This record gives sequence, structure tokens and C-alpha cells, in this order.
Amino acid sequence: MGEKHFVYMDHAATTFSKPEVVEAMRYFLKEHFGNPSALYSIGREAREAVETAREQLAKGLGAEPEEIYFTSGGTESDNWAVKGTAFARRKEGKHIITTPIEHHAVLYPCEYLETKGFDVTYLPVDGDGLVDPADVEAAIRDDTILISVMYANNEVGTLEPVPEIGKIAAEKGIPFHTDAVQVIGKVPLDMKRAHSDVDMLSLSSHKFYGPKGVGALYIRKGVEIDNYMHGGAQERGKRAGTENVAGIVGMGKAIELATADIEAHNKEIRKLRDRLRKGVLEIPHTRLNGHPEKRLPGNLNFSFEFIEGESLLLMLDQARICGSTGSACTSGSAGPSHVLTAIGLPPKIAQGSLRLTLGDANSEEDIDYVLEVLPEVVEKLRAMSPFYKPTT
Ligand SMILES: *Cc1c(COP(=O)(O)O)cnc(C)c1O
Repeated sequence: MGEKHFVYMDHAATTFSKPEVVEAMRYFLKEHFGNPSALYSIGREAREAVETAREQLAKGLGAEPEEIYFTSGGTESDNWAVKGTAFARRKEGKHIITTPIEHHAVLYPCEYLETKGFDVTYLPVDGDGLVDPADVEAAIRDDTILISVMYANNEVGTLEPVPEIGKIAAEKGIPFHTDAVQVIGKVPLDMKRAHSDVDMLSLSSHKFYGPKGVGALYIRKGVEIDNYMHGGAQERGKRAGTENVAGIVGMGKAIELATADIEAHNKEIRKLRDRLRKGVLEIPHTRLNGHPEKRLPGNLNFSFEFIEGESLLLMLDQARICGSTGSACTSGSAGPSHVLTAIGLPPKIAQGSLRLTLGDANSEEDIDYVLEVLPEVVEKLRAMSPFYKPTT
């Protein structure tokens, strides 16, 4: 392939599709384009492929195939879980518990529900972005109908105590949803054992080396939820719309690959990550955001004092390094990230943040290169800042 033309360190925003994934999809984009609901052979073949992918998803999550519902991605899965549960259970109560560090795909549906008469409690998080299960317990009321806490934060990488929170929810008989978009292939999931108290779980294919625009919502058997998409009888009448066959096939292959050897893969990524972390923290007036240990293997989120994150990104882009400030979803909107604000960073510090997320596109050479470029760029930007006085 010749020389790499950029260093990609934004795996939390999206990932490339693995060659095996693209190969599996190609077949269903070309001559085998049948509608899975059709009765002739190319339709039946598409149906079989969708059901095989459902089995692959179920295996990856330690779930039953009937508990997997295909969606258009993480955003739809989160919207469905939150609004679908709220509408299905609104006669039993109108109280929802969540956190202020959720992805907007959970937060904005909650805000929307507040305009429809629902009441939402946003739990406190500590300086590392951790939710305390005791706070979940204390927030529960007689009219609580849903608890939604993300598995890992997409900006600062902090891993939440999901099994513990699930246990509390189960004891009180409250449905529990988790946005697990960032943890597929990084945390082993088993819906029958360690995660037997999780009732709904969102995932998105393009975060684990599958195609964009496809995802799934795990819904435990017996959990009450309203439809989100109304129309045809697809997905056992729960999610209308002709299936994204090629996307679903790609996602099935992707989860198989992503969950094949999670520990070995994490070890490799963590090794790269820890070297980068050590090197970047040698830059003066720099802090690491998120929990020091309880974090995603590939996630680093730094704040550099006296610097504007946007300028930093632009200069890194000139050096062909792809990183992000906050998250891809909030770039373009003004103001500091809601996550960095919630963990208590003053706006000035939050504005000077950089997220670097490592994954399969990275090598030791990438770390060398970033450690060569980043300190120089930070120094250059600080030299331009009227607030910065070098301590010599
Ligand atoms: C990316 C992401 C989403 C949104 O998923 P899409 O498939 O891009 O819609 C939701 N939650 C988290 C934590 C994410 O990282």
C-alpha cells in the first residue's frame, strides 16, 4: 500500500471496516440483492444471511438470537430504548434516571421526554467521570420506570460499574438500559451471566470495524417496549423497514472478529496507549481526563492549559494526525464538551482538550510520530497565547 498518509487516532468516532467485513458485504450488495421478506430464492438467501448475522450478534453478547433487533445504529438504538420504554411504561410512572455524561443520543431523548411530562434525574459523577451505584439507589422512586447508564464514556473513556447498577435496578424491578457502543470488542459481554441484570443494550457496528449506518438493540425477553419505527412486520413486528442486509451481514462478521480474543487485543492496544500517555503527560501543564485505570484500553483524553482545542486539532491535521476535541458529535457546536463540564473541568481547561483513541489502525511508529509532533505543536500554540508565561 506504500506509505501511510495519515495517523488515525479517532477510533471512538468511527473505525475502518475490516477486509473480511467488506468481503462478506460485497456479495449482498451485488447480484444477491434480494429483499429478505421475498419468497424467491435470492430473497430467502438474504433472509438466511440476516438470521446468521443475528446468531453472530447473539453469540458475541452471550444472548439469544430472538433478543437481537437490528437498527440503523447507536443513535436509533438509544432513542428506541429510552423513548420506547418511557411510552410503554408511562402509566406506571414518569421518572427516568440517567447521567449527565451520556451520549446525546440518550440525553436529548431524555430532554425531549421532559417536555412531554416526564421527570429525569441526572446522577452526579465524580471528577473521573464515575457514577456511584449508591447514588443510583438513592435516586430511585416509586414512579421510576427506567435507568439508563452508559457502559463506557466515549469522550473520557471511563468504564461505569454496569453490573452493580444492574443489580440495584433488578432488585427494584426497574428496566435497565446501557449504551454499550464503546465497549464491543473491549469488554467481554455475557447477557446470561455477568450482565444478567441488563435489560437493554445498544451497539453500533462502525465502532467495532463494521460498516456505518447499522447497529442493534439487545432487548431481554419479556421486557416491555413500544415500537419506534412503525410500518412493515420486520424484526418480529418491532422495528419496521427493509433490513440493511449488507450492513447487517458486515456487522455480524465484525462482531465475530471483535470478540474472538478480547484480552489479547486489549493488551496490545493498552501497550501503545500507555506509552503515548506517558509521553504526552511529560508536556508541562497537561492533565489526563477520565479515570486513570477504569478506562477503555484505547482512550486518552488530555487537557492542555493555555490552549484552544480547535487550533490544536487544525495543527495536528496539518501534520496528518486525526484526533478530536470532545466527540465527533459535538464538534461544530460551540462551547466546551458536556462531559468535561460534568466532571468539573473549568471551561478554560475543557476548551483545551484533545481526545486520542487508539485501535487497529495504529502501530508503534504512530506513537513515535505523535510524540514527536504534539509537544512541538503545544509549545507553538502556547507561545501565541497571551495567558501563557513559561516557567523557567
Ligand atoms: C458513536 C456513539 C453513539 C452513536 O452511534 P451511531 O451509530 O454513530 O449513531 C452512541 N453512543 C456512544 C457512546 C457512541 O460512542
